[in-house]
Amino acid sequence: MQRAVDILADKQKSTEHVRNICVLAHVDHGKTTLTDCLISHNGFINQKQAGSLRMMDFLEEEQRRGITMKSASIALQYTSQSTSSSSPSQSTLINVIDSPGHVDFCSEVSTAARLSDGALVLVDVCEGVCVQTHAVLRQAWEEKLKPCLIFNKMDRLIEELKYSPFETYERLRMLLHEVNSLMSAFESEKFINQADTFLSAEDKRNNNINSDNNEDVEDLAEYLDDHLDMTDAEDVFSVERGNVAFASAMDGWAFRPEQFARLYAEKLGCSEKALKKGLWGDWFYHPKSKRIVGKKLNPNGKLKPLFVQCILDPIWKLYDAADEYYSGDKDLPTLAKSLKLTSISEKELTQSNKRMTLLAIMRSWLPLSSAILEMVVHSLPNPVEAMPFRIERLLYPSDSKIAAYDDILKCNKSSDATTVVFISKMVAVPLSSIHGGVREGSETHGDSKFVGFGRVFAGIMKKGDKIFVLGGDEPTEIIISELYLMMGQGMFPVDEVPSGNLLAIGGLDKVVLKSSTLSSSLECPLFGSMMFQASAIVKVAVEPENVQDMPLLLEGLRLLNRADAFVEMEVMDSGEHVLSAAGEVHLERCINDLRERFARVPIRVSKPLVNFKEGITTAGFADYKIGSKKVLRASVERLLVVGDKEKEEEKVDEKEATTAEDEKKKKKNNNALNIELSSISSSISGNSGDTFLDDFEESIRLGFQLACERGPICDEPLDNLKVTVEFLDAPIEDNDEVNNNDDDEQLNSGQVITFTRDVIRQAVMKSNPRLIEAMYLAVITTTSEALNGTYAVLGRRRSDILSESIREGTGVFIIHAYLPVATSFGFADELRKLTSGASSAQLVFSHWKELDIDPYQKLGEDGEELTDNVARDLMDMVRKRKGLKVDEK
Ligand code: GDP
Repeated sequence: MQRAVDILADKQKSTEHVRNICVLAHVDHGKTTLTDCLISHNGFINQKQAGSLRMMDFLEEEQRRGITMKSASIALQYTSQSTSSSSPSQSTLINVIDSPGHVDFCSEVSTAARLSDGALVLVDVCEGVCVQTHAVLRQAWEEKLKPCLIFNKMDRLIEELKYSPFETYERLRMLLHEVNSLMSAFESEKFINQADTFLSAEDKRNNNINSDNNEDVEDLAEYLDDHLDMTDAEDVFSVERGNVAFASAMDGWAFRPEQFARLYAEKLGCSEKALKKGLWGDWFYHPKSKRIVGKKLNPNGKLKPLFVQCILDPIWKLYDAADEYYSGDKDLPTLAKSLKLTSISEKELTQSNKRMTLLAIMRSWLPLSSAILEMVVHSLPNPVEAMPFRIERLLYPSDSKIAAYDDILKCNKSSDATTVVFISKMVAVPLSSIHGGVREGSETHGDSKFVGFGRVFAGIMKKGDKIFVLGGDEPTEIIISELYLMMGQGMFPVDEVPSGNLLAIGGLDKVVLKSSTLSSSLECPLFGSMMFQASAIVKVAVEPENVQDMPLLLEGLRLLNRADAFVEMEVMDSGEHVLSAAGEVHLERCINDLRERFARVPIRVSKPLVNFKEGITTAGFADYKIGSKKVLRASVERLLVVGDKEKEEEKVDEKEATTAEDEKKKKKNNNALNIELSSISSSISGNSGDTFLDDFEESIRLGFQLACERGPICDEPLDNLKVTVEFLDAPIEDNDEVNNNDDDEQLNSGQVITFTRDVIRQAVMKSNPRLIEAMYLAVITTTSEALNGTYAVLGRRRSDILSESIREGTGVFIIHAYLPVATSFGFADELRKLTSGASSAQLVFSHWKELDIDPYQKLGEDGEELTDNVARDLMDMVRKRKGLKVDEK
C-alpha cells in the first residue's frame, strides 16, 4: 500500500498528467457505485467487491442511511492504451473528489466543485433528469467546470423496462437533448441578464420595458436576436466529441461509441474516421455499397442506426443469453468467443451462474474504468489548462495585480513560486485511518482528528515549511508538520505536494475555522468565500440534558461548526444555542454528529424552527433628535423585487453604481460614505465640516448592522432595502415627531449605536414592513389514484402549484410546487402515509418570498376582524419563541 502511495506522490509532480474531478448526480443515480468501480481499477479493492463495497463512505452513518454525506478524495492512476507508436502510453493521476447527492448538501457539492477542474455528471437513464441533476448541472456551469456526461444504469433499460435497442437509442437521444437544452438555457439566461443590463435606464423608459413582465421578456429576446449571436453555440455534451459515456456501474461496464470505431472499421470495410462520426445519430451501414449513409438513403427505415447495430444489439444479445429462459441458439460462451476476449478465463465462461458469466464477459469486454478514465483524460483539462478559465471563479479580478496571482494562473510549481494552498473545509477523520499513526502532540478529539482538506494552487507545499494562514483578522504564521494524501478511507503521510494536487494538512485546528488561504507570502490573493446554492433555513435550539455537560456541548458545537462548512451557530439573548442547517436531513446529521462524535453527551433538541427575513414595501423615514439642534434622519427604501437571486445581485450592483454616482455629485459639499451588506445597502451623509460624522462613523455603521441583523417585526434579519442616514442641522418644530436626547455634550458611541439602530427600525415600521419566508421547490411523484390526496396535503401547507405532468407511458404524475419551509416539516412523511406510499417528494431550497399580507393588519376589507392573518401568526410564533412581547389578538 505504501508503495502505491509513493508512486502516486511521484505522479503528482507532472502536472500535465493530473486531473482533479468530482462526480455529481441526483441521489441514487449511482455515484458511489461508479466511484467504487473506478477505485477497483487501481487495485486497492478487488474487482468482485466493487459495486458492493462502499469505499467512499467512511462514516458509519452514511453506510446506514445509504446517503453519501461527507466528501473525501481518492487518487487513481490510469494508463491509456496507446493506439500509435508515436505517442507512447502515458499514465495519468486522477483525483476524484466525492460529493454527496442529497439536496441538503449543496454546500459540500460546492466544496468539491471548488477544488475540481472537471465534473462527471451522472444521469440514471430510467429516471432521467431529476431536480438535483438540474442543480448539479447548474453548479458545474456556474463553477466553470468542464463536464462529461455518463448515462448510467443502462442495464435497467434491458432487464427491467425491457426496452429494445432501438427504443433505447431513441430514449438516449431524447435525454441527451434534454441535458444539452438545460445547459444552453443557463447560457441564454446569462445572455438575457446581460441584455437586461445593456438596456440603459433611458431605453427602458422609452420602450417601457419592465423585466418582471412576460411580454417584455419577449422584447428582450428580440433584443438578444439583434445584439447577440447565439446561433453557433454548440452542445456542451456531444457523443461525437467524446464527452458522453454509457454505463452500468453496477454491472461494471461502460463505453464511448468511438472505442468501437477501430473494431468495426476493419469488419465493415470503412474508414475509422467516418465510423467515429457515424456511431451516433442517424447514420446507417449500407451493406451493398459498403458505405455509411444518412437518413435519406434509408427511406423505409429498414436499416438500423449504426449505434444500434454495432453497439446496442451485441450488448442486448449477451443479456438475453444470460436470461434463465433464453432459448436462442448462441449461448454466452459462444457469444463471448465471437468477441475475441483474451482477458477472460475458460473457468469464468463456464461457471454455472449465468449472471456471473455475463458480468465477467461485460467487464472484460467493456471495462468501466477504462472507458470512463479514458474519457476523463481525453475530455477534461489538467490544472495548467484549467486555471485560465477557472481563475475568474476562484479569485477576484482585482487580485490580478498581486504577484502570486500569476503563479496561480500558471499553476506554477517551480521552487521559487509562491506557495498557495486553499483549504476548502475541515474534515474530522477517524484516527484509525491515519497510516503510521498520529503524530505525537497533535490535537485529537476522541477517536477522530481534524485535517484541512484542500488543493495546492501554486508552488510546492512541503513538510516543515513556514506558511501564513490568511483571511482572519491577522495573518498567523505556522509550520506545516502533517501533510497527507487522502485516499478514501486512508490518510497517507507525504513530504511534499506540488501545485495542481489535492492534500490534507493536520495541525490547523487553532488557525483555521472552516476554510482558509495558506501562503508562503503575505502578498497573496484570498480565495473567495464559497457561493452556496442553499441557505441555512432550518434551525433548532440545543441544550444538554444535564446542566453540568454544558462545557462539553459548547466544545462539541465549536467542533461541529468547524467540521461542517455550512452549519451556522448563534447564541440568543435568552442564552439558547441555536444551530442552523440547510434542511431536515442536514439538520439531523448535525445533531447526530454532535451527540455521537463531537459533544458525546445527551442533548435535548427543540422542534425545528424556521428562519425568516424582514423587508418593506414602501419608502419611509424616521427622525431622531440629537441634543438641541441636530436631527438624524434614517430613510429606507426598497432595493428590488425579492425572489430572483441573480437579478438581485445584479441590481444591487447597479444600485451601488448609481448611489456612487449620486454620492460623487453630493461630495462637493457633503461628506458621505456607503456601506454594503448583502442585498442591503446604506449611505451616510452629513454636512461638510461636520465633525459628528468623523467622530461617530464607526458607531453609525454598527448601529446600521445591528438594525440589519434584527428587524422590528420579530428580530429577524432585514433584507432588500437601502438605508440612508442623514444629519440635518434643522430646528425642531413643535409638531415634529422626534425622540429626544437632551444630553448633547454627553453623547457617547454606545448611545449613537443604539439610536442609529432604533431610528432605522422606526423607519422600517413606517414603510409597510413585511415578513419574507424561505420557499422550497418541491418535486412530487405520485400516481393518478393518489393525485387528490396529494393536492389536499399541498393545499393545507400553503403551497403554490407550478405544474403537473405525466411521465410518458408510466402513469406517474410529476407535480412541481413551491412550498414554504415553515410548513414543510413532516411533509414527505405525511404524503407517504396519506397516499400509502404512492407519493414521494424531493425538496430543494428555491428562493425567499415576501408574504403579501401586513403582519399588523387586524381588520379585513369588510371591516370585520381578520381571523386568518398568516403573517401575524408567523410573527407571533417567532416573537413568542424569542421571548418578545406578543400583542393580544
Ligand atoms: P448515489 O446515491 O448516487 O451514490 O448512488 P449509489 O451508487 O448508492 O446507487 C444507488 C442505487 O442504485 C444502489 O442500490 C445501486 O446498487 C444502484 N445502482 C447503481 N448503479 C447502477 C446500475 O448501473 N444499474 C442498476 N440496475 N443499479 C445501479
